[in-house]
Amino acid sequence: MTVPSVTLVGDIELPIVGFGTWQLHGRQAYDAVRYALDAGYRHLDTATMYGNELQVGQALRDSGVDRDEVFLTTKLQPRNVGRERATIEASLRDLGVDRVDLWLIHWPPRSGSGLPTWREFLAAREAGLTRAIGVSNYSLRQIDELIDATGQRPAVNQIPWSPSEYDARLLAESRKRAVVVEGYSPLRGSNLRHPVLTGIAQRHGVTPAQVVLRWHVEHGIPVIPKSATPERIRENLDLFGFALSDEETAEIDALA
Ligand code: NDP
Repeated sequence: MTVPSVTLVGDIELPIVGFGTWQLHGRQAYDAVRYALDAGYRHLDTATMYGNELQVGQALRDSGVDRDEVFLTTKLQPRNVGRERATIEASLRDLGVDRVDLWLIHWPPRSGSGLPTWREFLAAREAGLTRAIGVSNYSLRQIDELIDATGQRPAVNQIPWSPSEYDARLLAESRKRAVVVEGYSPLRGSNLRHPVLTGIAQRHGVTPAQVVLRWHVEHGIPVIPKSATPERIRENLDLFGFALSDEETAEIDALA
C-alpha cells in the first residue's frame, strides 16, 4: 500500500498519515511502533518530551524497514530552549539516526515566537541534522515573526485539528505562506458518536475514526493518530479504499 504524501518546502515528501507516539512508553511504545511499521506506516511522530525516542529508534532498527523509507519527526520542548544543538544531538543519539526528517519547536517559548531558537533550527538544518524544520502550536502572527526576521518559513505547523476545530481561514492563510498544517489529536478531539460521523461511517462500511482521518486526507492535512491497539493501528491507516464526497466533507466541516 502506498500512502500519498504532501510536499513540504524544499520538495520534501511527508506521508499524509503518520503514527503518533505521545503517551506510549517503554515496551508499549516499542511494540506499537513495530506494529505500525509492519502495518505500513512510514511516518513516525515523537518528541523529546514523550520520553520514548529510544524505543522509537530501537523499533525502527529492528523492523527491517529501511531508515530512509521512514519520515521521522521529533520536537524540542520549551524547557530545552537555549540548549537546541545539544537537544537535537541527544534526539539523534536516542533515535539512532544521523538526521531526522522534521524537527519542530514543540510550543512557542514564553518569550514570544522564539526567534533565537528558530535561528538555531536553521543552523541545525544547515548542519544536516534535520531535513526540514517547523513549529507546533504557533499562531499565524508568531509564524510571520519568524518569516519576517529570517526569510525562512516553517515547513509545518503541527496543531490540534479535528472536525470541531475546522478553521478554513487558518488553513488558507497557512497555505498562502506555504506552511503545511499538520493535525494532531484527530480522534481525541472528536466525538466519534456524533450522528454525522456515524451516519457517514455506516454508508461507507468504515468506522467513525476512519471517517475523521479520511476527512483530514480529503483536506490534504497530514494526520498522526496514536493507538496502542493493533487493530486500531491498522484501521487508522486503512483510509485509501474509500473517499468522502464533497457533500460529506462539507457536512463534517460544518461540525466546527
Ligand atoms: P489521538 O487523536 O491520536 O487519539 C488517541 C486516542 O484515541 C487513544 O486513546 C487511542 O486509544 C484512541 N484511538 C486510536 N485509534 C482509535 C480508533 N480507531 N477508534 C477509536 N479510538 C481510537 O490523540 P493524540 O493526542 O495522541 O494525538 C496524536 C498524536 O499527535 C500524538 O500521539 C502525538 O504524536 C501528536 N501530538 C502532538 C502535540 C503537539 O503539541 N505537537 C500534542 C498532542 C499530540 P488506544 O491507544 O487505547 O487505542
